[in-house]
Amino acid sequence: MIDTHAHLDGLDDPHAAIARARAVGVGRIVAIASGLESTRVTLALAEGEEGVAVAAGVHPHQAADGESIEELAALAAGKVVAIGEIGLDFYRDYAPREAQRRLFADQLRLAGELGTAVIVHSRAADDETATALEDFGGTVVLHCFSSPGLLPVALERGYYVSFAGNVTYPKAAELREAAAKVPPEKVLAETDCPYLAPQPVRGRTNEPAYVVHTIASLAETRDEDPEELGRRIDANAAAAFGLP
Ligand SMILES: [Zn+2]
Repeated sequence: MIDTHAHLDGLDDPHAAIARARAVGVGRIVAIASGLESTRVTLALAEGEEGVAVAAGVHPHQAADGESIEELAALAAGKVVAIGEIGLDFYRDYAPREAQRRLFADQLRLAGELGTAVIVHSRAADDETATALEDFGGTVVLHCFSSPGLLPVALERGYYVSFAGNVTYPKAAELREAAAKVPPEKVLAETDCPYLAPQPVRGRTNEPAYVVHTIASLAETRDEDPEELGRRIDANAAAAFGLP
């Protein structure tokens, strides 16, 4: 199995968490960065850890921090499987929207140049996210999917749709309805750890091992066998990120 979205730099002991993930059959992790320093730390954490790939990017929350795209490009080149997470967050509005838009566009361009996938965070910005991605020709992963309104565009354009722990929450019926509609070759699962621990372990610090709960919940929602879905998600992620 794979956890397609883990903030390893947000965990107290990432190496121990990676070992616990392996012990429950989560042999692969895509480690996600949220800024330049986070990219450096995450690349260092992944070094020597088999099965851990890295995505480099600047989160929309950090859009006003003046992070340099040139520096990001230098860090990322040849070392990452995706640019992410990147996108737009008009819910929290931690950074001015104009700065978010510019940063998103710059990072989409970088992914195009590097030929990598993008991992997209979109919150309260469905329409603008869809518009910004219109001209991006590469692979798109919609992470921690929580915008059922964005689903028709995602399906039409062949984006990967990744579900996190919140799809397991009792009140998330609408999200599960969306999860049931994603075609088998486009569905992904993630923890988004250390946040959003799935239902059976809700309230704890999330970690890659817990993706098994999200996969189990998705399998139930989609009326599929959990082991088979786990294998399919792993294969989908390998295709999306060009993993070996
Ligand atoms: Zn994230």
